[in-house]
Amino acid sequence: MRTNFYNSNLDALDFHEQIEAENTWKKSLRLTDKEIVEAFYDQELFYEKNIELEQDCVEIKKMIKDKLGYLKNNIKNKEEAEILRTFIISSSIRELIETENLIKYLKRLRIIKAGRVVINKNRVTRDDIDRAKQVPLDQIVSEFTKLRKCGRGFMGLCPFHQERTPSFHINPETNTYNCFGACQKHGDIINFVQEKYNLTFIPAVKQLLTY
Ligand SMILES: [Zn+2]
Repeated sequence: MRTNFYNSNLDALDFHEQIEAENTWKKSLRLTDKEIVEAFYDQELFYEKNIELEQDCVEIKKMIKDKLGYLKNNIKNKEEAEILRTFIISSSIRELIETENLIKYLKRLRIIKAGRVVINKNRVTRDDIDRAKQVPLDQIVSEFTKLRKCGRGFMGLCPFHQERTPSFHINPETNTYNCFGACQKHGDIINFVQEKYNLTFIPAVKQLLTY
């Protein structure tokens, strides 16, 4: 009998792991702000893009106003008008917020390009959070407990509760931990650092960026 090793499902990821793996893959394709500036920065182009986006904002606002005006003059049924009003606002506001966020983003890129990046101690960027999440969790956990390889992950005595046999598991692919013992604690690397060093979210991210 022939065994087809390539069909072996032993290593297949479960549903949750698949989503995590896909997200990690997508993140790896994303450029950092600095890389985007280096690749695409052109003073004029940024300027034109900014004007275009600002015009979009004006148009979206006008469109919302027009639609609401039409509603007021043409739909007399109160209930129907309310449903349509909610629909118009929810769908258009989203577009408006996205456009406004793009304008803010362009502004940030220009500041980065100008080298005027002010390090604000009370803020982190999305890139900071992404980078913090990529620090290998086993590296941090090793400071608290001895880990040994177990399948594709790591096991060790739980750093959150007293125990004699290991029930603390790390999944390196999702960079998350799970205690199968008494405390049942679980989370990602940011949760771990927050809890073990007694930090709030931003200081935890900043600490991870030093690794
Ligand atoms: Zn535990």
